[in-house]
Amino acid sequence: MKEVTCFIMSCDLHVHTNASDGLLAPEKVIHLAKEIGLEAVAITDHDTTAAIGRAASTGKVAGVEVVPGIEISTEWQEEEIHILGYYLDYGLAWLQERLAKRREGRMRRAQTIVGRLRDLGLEIDWDRVLALAGGAAVGRPHIAMAMMEKDYVGSIEEAFRRYLDRGAPAYVPRTPLTPQQAVALVRAAGGVPVLAHPGLIRKRALVQELLATGVIGLEVFYPEHDEATVAWLLGLVSERGLIATGGSDFHGYEAQGYAPLGACRVPSETLALLRSAARALTPWQGRSAQV
Ligand SMILES: [Zn+2]
Ligand SMILES: [Zn+2]
Repeated sequence: MKEVTCFIMSCDLHVHTNASDGLLAPEKVIHLAKEIGLEAVAITDHDTTAAIGRAASTGKVAGVEVVPGIEISTEWQEEEIHILGYYLDYGLAWLQERLAKRREGRMRRAQTIVGRLRDLGLEIDWDRVLALAGGAAVGRPHIAMAMMEKDYVGSIEEAFRRYLDRGAPAYVPRTPLTPQQAVALVRAAGGVPVLAHPGLIRKRALVQELLATGVIGLEVFYPEHDEATVAWLLGLVSERGLIATGGSDFHGYEAQGYAPLGACRVPSETLALLRSAARALTPWQGRSAQV
């Protein structure tokens, strides 16, 4: 994917920190971004905006722009659909209440997964999983790390494939949230909703359907998207007048086959498009949003 990694492409719009299931602290992510010459990164942690403030203050000193973002996992027709939100007004009290509820759901889910693994004879200690999460929202990668420590699996990828992915024996569905609800949530918070990694959606026809949810952008450039996928998505972008975004989905686990920071980039013009789309949305200021 040479064309998306050339030097004028300097923004990585899909980055996780240890506020969710990433490995690195927000400050470290920003320093790394600076080191590899990124102009901007979007912090898009799962169900939390906790890292944005720290990343932004480090970014100010280091000269790396931080785009406030989020990633919300949803389920639709037996597929896992992720919705990214950019430039959302993350200080809204109702939004933080909603996100806190989502994180509680994550925690319950992770506990159930550990229970299933124990039923399968894998002695995974819940307190160890919590310690590996380091106070952040517990995610499946933390459970996978605990499995690796006990040598039940050789890699995070193997843990997902053999135990944690949909269809695997310890898979537990999420608290149901539809992509429509996640898009509405992002929009109500004044953010720009973007369909994350559409190339990972197995039923391609679903992507067309998901474009009707009110997403404003499509994540076109993504480490696992091959050239044909990128071309297909760019076609949809121009047909529907959407914003083409891109990012590495950095988690900090390169040794485990995850992409490195900056693996997929977009030009700063994309930020301008996202910013102006966000300006056109009015955040809901009420105490609680009906979304
Ligand atoms: Zn995702
Ligand atoms: Zn992600």
